[in-house]
Amino acid sequence: MDGAWQPAETANQTVDSRKASVGTDLDAADTQPGRGKRFRQMLVARLLAAGRGTADLLYPPVCRGCGRFVQRHAAVCPACWASLRLIERPFCEVLGVPFSHDLGRGILSADAIANPPPFTRLRSVAIHTGIARDLVHALKYTDRTDLAPMMAAWMLRAGEGVVQAADAIVPVPLHKYRLWSRRFNQSAELARALAHLSGRPMLATALVRRRRTMRQVGLGATQRQDNVRGAFLVTEAGQSLVFGRHIVLVDDVYTTGATVAAATRALKRAGASEVTVLTFARAVTVLI
Ligand SMILES: [Zn+2]
Repeated sequence: MDGAWQPAETANQTVDSRKASVGTDLDAADTQPGRGKRFRQMLVARLLAAGRGTADLLYPPVCRGCGRFVQRHAAVCPACWASLRLIERPFCEVLGVPFSHDLGRGILSADAIANPPPFTRLRSVAIHTGIARDLVHALKYTDRTDLAPMMAAWMLRAGEGVVQAADAIVPVPLHKYRLWSRRFNQSAELARALAHLSGRPMLATALVRRRRTMRQVGLGATQRQDNVRGAFLVTEAGQSLVFGRHIVLVDDVYTTGATVAAATRALKRAGASEVTVLTFARAVTVLI
């Protein structure tokens, strides 16, 4: 586990004292308007001299999970970190399902053997519970697009170099009506951040949803498959970008896999040589 993966230690004392001094200075500035500018300039100069950006002053770093102060931006506190159930080896090489016992590298789960998925491999950061579920929910439903870079950094790490070696990154698209009502596509936010971090291109419009589908939530596995069958299509303009390429397909959560399987089939029909599915969270009820 490298440094970027360590949770920032909570430094309540440091942050609180900085916050207190900032509060004092700004209060002084407010009560003495003529001197306000000088106070702010002095404050900024002091912070820059200390090697800190003004952003830290205006937006002190807080835990992305619970809002407690942490030492640096884009981090979570130790308590939230502890609630993260990371998916680490041993796991099924194809479906990425964690195994309870290490049976050696390259072992496949019974499910991957009995029902081989259309994609080459699936990787996810964490089990869809605790802070992982909170982050997914915050990104999707409360417009917290600022979470995407941190979540994407974790996804890049879970990909173990696959993203950097791929040709392009494709988000699971929303139908245009849903995109209109929700204003942004959480998968595209993650894909964009992944593209930025990995230097690989994101194909934002190559894969589209050609018909509206019901929300998958509340549907059984078979209903989910029927719901999304044939729902995705690679556009004419997207064909040449996908043909013969290794694509990383990005989604926020993997549940039964019906959505990413349907999207993978569309990419394969367009000639994609390989599809890796990368999600932030995945639902796993039982360890194999
Ligand atoms: Zn926290």
